[in-house]
Amino acid sequence: MTNVDFLIVGAGIAGLSAAARLARHGSTLVCEAEEAPGFHSSGRSAAFAHFDMDSAIVRALTAASIPLLEEPGARPHPALFIALEGQDKDLDRVEAAYREWQPAARRLSVADARAFVPVLREGADGIVGALLDPVGRKLDAHALLETHRQALGAAGGAIATRAPVTGLALDGNRWSVDTPGQSYSARVVVNAAGAWADALARLGGVPPIGLRPLRRTVITFDVPQGMDVSAWPFTKTVGPGFYIEPEGRGRLLACPMDEHFSDPCDAQPEEEDVALAAWRVEQATTLAIPRIASKWAGLRSFAPDRRPVCGFDPDAPGFFWLAGQGGFGLQTSPALALAAEAMATGDDWPAELEAVGVARRDLLRRR
Ligand SMILES: Cc1cc2nc3c(=O)[nH]c(=O)nc-3n(C[C@H](O)[C@H](O)[C@H](O)COP(=O)(O)OP(=O)(O)OC[C@H]3O[C@@H](n4cnc5c(N)ncnc54)[C@H](O)[C@@H]3O)c2cc1C
Repeated sequence: MTNVDFLIVGAGIAGLSAAARLARHGSTLVCEAEEAPGFHSSGRSAAFAHFDMDSAIVRALTAASIPLLEEPGARPHPALFIALEGQDKDLDRVEAAYREWQPAARRLSVADARAFVPVLREGADGIVGALLDPVGRKLDAHALLETHRQALGAAGGAIATRAPVTGLALDGNRWSVDTPGQSYSARVVVNAAGAWADALARLGGVPPIGLRPLRRTVITFDVPQGMDVSAWPFTKTVGPGFYIEPEGRGRLLACPMDEHFSDPCDAQPEEEDVALAAWRVEQATTLAIPRIASKWAGLRSFAPDRRPVCGFDPDAPGFFWLAGQGGFGLQTSPALALAAEAMATGDDWPAELEAVGVARRDLLRRR
């Protein structure tokens, strides 16, 4: 039995970003079931940071995170929000969010939007309005994970891969944690198990939070030869529809923004969602998608109020939740890691979170 201060379950963006900070306060180990970090949601994301998010807390966490999202994990890249017929009110909503957090964003005429993404259709079948954020952030999940892995190692922490936590029990004031090869005794267990966070809680006799993993599908396809899309903005409908973003010079990634309930699993794309992604893009643009270059799916796991949960469980001493990052886990990871560090160690509340109006109680399971 090896003793550690912090045992983090899950080497996705949530677990690794928190582990890199916690390792400065005590011995830290991350247990990951898969053979490498980022195998599940964190490696399947569209990896863009933006403010078209339903919840005010998520927008505030994003605002606190953006200054901390730096090269090589993030680089500036514009975002274009487009309204299809009937989505004018949604465009107003997104504009209000940007007015609060990113005043550089501005409304564009349809003609000006088409100057950025020339394939957009105009009018009834196409777009009726747009908003441009010239200073959005394109993220790189693998670079973010690697930065955290290095920081964790530099602070003396470690990751155990192929180490699924299969046993978890409170033993006095410490947690006994079993993996197939090794057992640990931890002062604090951080539940960063993504879609499996409720399953891990149940394993330890902790009531689940009612997490709902929702599958989302992504395709990539090649644009016509000679068309260079690398400078196109991340382009997203403000209501139901799709988003597209460049994947190099001649390839686009597209997502139909689908949400299908799933048990926690290695999510795979369903053919009808793949077809829907292509169809929605073809409807609103002049692009044809005769061939899909690649496709994948991942789970976005939401708490019942679709806000993240961060903090000690009120009924299970030493059991720390870091779950429910839904579709915003990369873009809020710097702020949530700061929050986790402060709450798990008893540190002062970070000035970065204070500045955007996020308080501890906003993130706790009982809020
Ligand atoms: C298609 C798609 C697009 C997205 N786009 C964006 C975006 O543009 N911007 C953004 O910010 N977010 C986006 N997201 C959301 C983002 O990917 C997630 O919020 C984030 O990755 C969640 O991170 P996580 O660490 O909680 O989960 P995960 O990355 O799933 O990590 C959890 C880890 O826990 C491990 N684990 C589970 N149970 C155990 C156990 N018992 N023992 C050991 N290990 C265990 C798993 O193997 C897994 O590696 C998107 C998601 C999808 C699917």
